[in-house]
Amino acid sequence: MESLKQKIRSEGIVLSDQVLKVDAFLNHQIDPQLMQQIGHEFARRFAGQGITKIVTIEASGIAPAVMAGLELGIPVIFARKFQSLTLKSDLLISKVFSFTKQTESTIAVSARHLTAADHVLIIDDFLANGHAASALIDVIRQAGASIAGIGVVIEKSFQSGRAELDAQGFQVESLARIASLEGGRVTFLD
Ligand code: 5GP
Repeated sequence: MESLKQKIRSEGIVLSDQVLKVDAFLNHQIDPQLMQQIGHEFARRFAGQGITKIVTIEASGIAPAVMAGLELGIPVIFARKFQSLTLKSDLLISKVFSFTKQTESTIAVSARHLTAADHVLIIDDFLANGHAASALIDVIRQAGASIAGIGVVIEKSFQSGRAELDAQGFQVESLARIASLEGGRVTFLD
């Protein structure tokens, strides 16, 4: 997606060989027009698949997920993150190791909103090592729902997440694929 790549080139900040900061348009300040284009592009790539719900993870997945939900005309669920959790019977729970915070947290989705009748599109802001996606897949499977695919705004292709999701047979659609952040430069894969 060319407009996204241009935005990354002009406003993204390479913090290290591993981490890209995009808080000017995605992770803190949000560019609504770009988010709308992102939602449109996800809807185009996953059109006609009978998707009933989008599942994302708070907080940075919410903006692109809502825009995709608007385009597809379906509800969006964001998994809540808990530091500690009093277990409740109607919660679907999994653990996720945070790439940026380097801590483990618990995520939860209410079983009232996700059922075996659902066909789910997972959306997130970044794909690095695939921990967030794996936790969402776990929660969706606990509900007995099926998974249409995974939509990612920015994929860091040099980390392991993409290959792992491909190996599991998922349709993964990344709107910008980064081959390298070495030398403070963003190099795109395609
Ligand atoms: P993963 O779970 O795939 O290892 O990492 C994805 C999650 O970590 C995303 O939800 C995102 O919030 C965060 N993340 C991973 N890499 C980056 C990065 O380079 N920059 C930012 N801002 N967040 C990242």
